[in-house]
Amino acid sequence: MKASCFHLSTLKETPVDAEIVSHQLMLRAGLIRRLASGIYSWMPLGLRVLRKVENIVREEMDKSGGLELLMPSVQPAELWQESGRWDQFGPELLRLQDRHQRNYCLGPTHEEVIVDIFRRDIKSYKQLPVNFYQIQTKFRDEIRPRFGVMRSREFIMKDAYSFHASQESLQQTYDLMYQTYSNIFDRFGLAYRAVSADSGSIGGSTSHEFHVLADSGEDAIAFSDQSDYAANVEMAVAIPPQTERDQPGAAMEIIDTSGLYTIEDLTDKLDADIKKCLKTLIVDSDDDGLVALVLRGDHELNPVKTEKLLRVASPLRMAEREKIKRVLGSDIGSLGPVGLGITTYVDSSAGFVRDFICGANINDKHYINANWGRDCEEPTIADIRSVQEGDPSPDGQGSLKILRGIEVGHIFQLGQKYSETMQATVLDVNGKSVVTSMGCYGIGVTRVVAAAIEQNNDERGIFWPDSLAPFQLAICPLNYNKSEQVKHAADKLYADCLQRGIEVLLDDRPLRPGVMFSDMELIGVPHRIVLSDRGLNADLFEYKGRRDENSQDLALTNLPDFLNQLFSQECVRD
Ligand code: ATP
Ligand code: MG
Repeated sequence: MKASCFHLSTLKETPVDAEIVSHQLMLRAGLIRRLASGIYSWMPLGLRVLRKVENIVREEMDKSGGLELLMPSVQPAELWQESGRWDQFGPELLRLQDRHQRNYCLGPTHEEVIVDIFRRDIKSYKQLPVNFYQIQTKFRDEIRPRFGVMRSREFIMKDAYSFHASQESLQQTYDLMYQTYSNIFDRFGLAYRAVSADSGSIGGSTSHEFHVLADSGEDAIAFSDQSDYAANVEMAVAIPPQTERDQPGAAMEIIDTSGLYTIEDLTDKLDADIKKCLKTLIVDSDDDGLVALVLRGDHELNPVKTEKLLRVASPLRMAEREKIKRVLGSDIGSLGPVGLGITTYVDSSAGFVRDFICGANINDKHYINANWGRDCEEPTIADIRSVQEGDPSPDGQGSLKILRGIEVGHIFQLGQKYSETMQATVLDVNGKSVVTSMGCYGIGVTRVVAAAIEQNNDERGIFWPDSLAPFQLAICPLNYNKSEQVKHAADKLYADCLQRGIEVLLDDRPLRPGVMFSDMELIGVPHRIVLSDRGLNADLFEYKGRRDENSQDLALTNLPDFLNQLFSQECVRD
């Protein structure tokens, strides 16, 4: 490709509304352009990267026996009513009507459609297992679209759906997809982790997320420093202390704490250990009442674990201040478990503290030296906090470290959630009708591009892993439009590269070298060759890898060998 014929539209300035580096660089490098909130066009340069991602995904899915199909984006409401999700999905589902006032939605996912295809087409266990996949546009009316294509409203997903006559068969395909995803992310050349995950609203029990590791990631991942254990912090189990609680000490006393509103105020003023200060949070119950949650002052509430508890409203909702005051008689800053009188869950770590400090349920009053079993009831223990760095790993091996990640893939065992409600059945060996089990497997194709940049950038721009780069090599001739010698050499090298199947970008634009180089660095071409009169007169060319500190001058006679070395492996693989 010649740069003069390719619409390279790089920007010097960082766009003001782009918060994270991948979004900034995608706009600056001209990979995407915004059309509306959370809706982007893929420009020619960006599309080249997107296609690389898609091709790797497609090749590995095909290798695993997946069957590609393509389902419509527009889906009839009847199917969603049948699965029950027309009502459940809420405002993320973009609904529309046709000219006959029939209801449709823009597909945020395709379980309903694939089940409909399956039940019409597949009748016998002999046709199972089967794994259909597509690479297709989804629409989710995200409440907060942000970070460009990282969390957009329209995006491309690879989604696969498998059907099985038995749980064993589902487990086999799930394991195969786990391996296929590992192969895909290995080929992307990105640092990633597979973690066990909460399966969220889609349902099912076994699920893993694949995260590209990056400091800006929205998710926190906990993993053991001594074993394979890795889980989304949303899901990671906090292990209770493995000892007995110590006996109570001094008698409980009530003290005045006016003007102290936070745990920090309290620990400062009383010179107390934060681990001995218990905080009490109040959430709505599922029957219009309130539920109390008690945690150690240094711990954070985990909404995903908590909303699964009996009586707690799901999704978790903090109770309104007025309602708390009305029912419990004091403001938020003075609450505590002693004599509270409502359902109370105590985090397992908080349940082990003796001689604790807590609100007295009277404004501006706290208790000190309060004790479970003596001053209030024995606690109802639950795992309601998020794990922290240094906590013991739930598998008993090592302690936890926390990293941030970007969720780029997700695999679920759905079981019979959809196949039961929507009657995806087959006839078994005895001619008896059995409900199939399903798995589903997603990769955020457009998000992968942003995640790759988030992990691979510097102050000058993007550095793509070789497998995702829009071009592998940039030829930068100096004075291409003025020097016959340079033009001749550059054209010859360009033709040679094309012949070898190297994806090459010849920068034939009449630009100053600095501008040309910074463009190539910004868009992240992994390899650059510079040809100049001075170099050619000395039989030299200049080479610089995108991540190299310095360039090197090499003998022109060695150029063919050099290209062989640089690209032989990639060409064979791609
Ligand atoms: P998230 O928690 O990030 O909203 P999700 O659990 O809703 O993701 P899935 O329904 O499992 O996501 O979708 C599969 C994949 O699609 C995700 O792993 C992610 O990579 C991608 N994805 C989901 N929502 C978006 C979005 N709004 N923009 C871009 N990619 C997305
Ligand atoms: Mg989502």
